[in-house]
Amino acid sequence: MIPTIKEIFSLKAEGQAVTVRGWIRTKRQTKSAVFLEVNDGSCFANIQCVFDQGSPAFQAIAPELEKATTGASASIEGTLVPSPATGQKLEVSARSIQIIGEAPADTYPLQKKAHSLEFLREQAHLRPRTNTFGAVARVRNRMAFAVHQFFQERGFQYVHTPLITASDAEGAGAMFQVTTLDLQKIAQSGTVDYEKDFFGKPAYLTVSGQLNVETYCQAMNRVYTFGPAFRAENSNTTRHLAEFWMIEPEIAFATLEDDIELAKSFITQLVKTALEDCAEDLAFFDARIQPGLVADLQKVVAGSFYRVTYTEAIDALLKSGQEFEFKPYWGCDLQSEHEKFLTEKVVGGPLVVTDYPKDIKAFYMKQNDDGKTVAAMDILVPRFGEIIGGSEREWRLDLLEKRIKDLGLDSNNYWWYIDLRRYGSTPHAGFGLGFERLLLYITGMTNIRDVIPFPRAPKLAGF
Ligand code: ATP
Ligand code: MN
Repeated sequence: MIPTIKEIFSLKAEGQAVTVRGWIRTKRQTKSAVFLEVNDGSCFANIQCVFDQGSPAFQAIAPELEKATTGASASIEGTLVPSPATGQKLEVSARSIQIIGEAPADTYPLQKKAHSLEFLREQAHLRPRTNTFGAVARVRNRMAFAVHQFFQERGFQYVHTPLITASDAEGAGAMFQVTTLDLQKIAQSGTVDYEKDFFGKPAYLTVSGQLNVETYCQAMNRVYTFGPAFRAENSNTTRHLAEFWMIEPEIAFATLEDDIELAKSFITQLVKTALEDCAEDLAFFDARIQPGLVADLQKVVAGSFYRVTYTEAIDALLKSGQEFEFKPYWGCDLQSEHEKFLTEKVVGGPLVVTDYPKDIKAFYMKQNDDGKTVAAMDILVPRFGEIIGGSEREWRLDLLEKRIKDLGLDSNNYWWYIDLRRYGSTPHAGFGLGFERLLLYITGMTNIRDVIPFPRAPKLAGF
């Protein structure tokens, strides 16, 4: 393999011969030289390749340089020399060029001018070649690795939870059904015979790996899952995807306090890693997407998280005098507008909210002694609200069974989950972090469809 552009910048020195392979971003021509900006996605920076029009070899390569248009792939040979241009130490004094794949200027969709994010969403196959999506992809990659590093360094075991599930209410949202039955035939016959379906019963795509990961928690203590989750919410917001990636740690012999501590150090560690290892990409986001981003992230690393109970949060909203589209009251689910107000206007940073009313939270959350609330916590951040949802789990058999019954859920669907409380039960707690929400937070991008390579959302164009 030839060195990437990142490796050329970091490993090679002035005077060394190099071969650059990448995609041409721009071509610029003066009387004396032709300048190509080449990028290969290994780092934010392009490498500038300069062809001297006065050199004896120039006539021979001129026809090939004609084909060097934006988007074409090329192999360029030359020598590293100090660059007079600002913002880069080295450039390539180029000797030869070979165009590998042309990109005809009259049809290539990504010409030099800046494209809107909406337009690029319809060009999902080409958008990784832009500055913005290259930077998102590199940050996403680094953060995925950092997730594993964080947990592995702390003795957590990675568990692969299933994507297909039979429980139709994992407690987190609308589900996609998985079937091999022919819908057309069912429509004609008017009846569904699940005996004939692939699994012999209804099956769905999981909305969360939590219930399954709890089984491993109750055998191995510290565990986590990191995989796709699917929610058929027809919500069409800038914070929801139909297919997203979720990180769900679960710890045994633990309380809500342990859970909150884990979540805070997790977010802090990820933000710190991004600041250290993705500095060039974050500088771009700060300059072009979200002014003030880097300073805000630095504050997260340095500072503490504010913390309130749900009841205090509702009081603060009611006392604020602020007009909300959705009027807050004790017992309401916090809306994104409330969460943004609390984090942006009241505390100016991340906020941990605990002890939500049990009626707006899932059946498995541990009931508090007041009979009204559960030992739940959400972490909210400026710009979009909820990034983490977690809780201590109800580990007492009688209380869990009663809750399932009171909610009218079918306990047959949860027999193994209930069994965990029958045999060797322990207090335990965990949380779910939407990986794309984390990326929104760290990159400053504003639409969740722009931080996953191939977004899946209702009626999305380009899919
Ligand atoms: P919200 O209220 O924002 O819809 P939620 O309460 O339904 O979220 P949880 O069930 O607590 O979410 O899931 C845990 C985490 O998964 C959330 O904190 C969020 O980061 C992420 N998440 C949930 N739904 C989605 C989605 N549709 N797309 C992307 N991320 C999601
Ligand atoms: Mn939640």
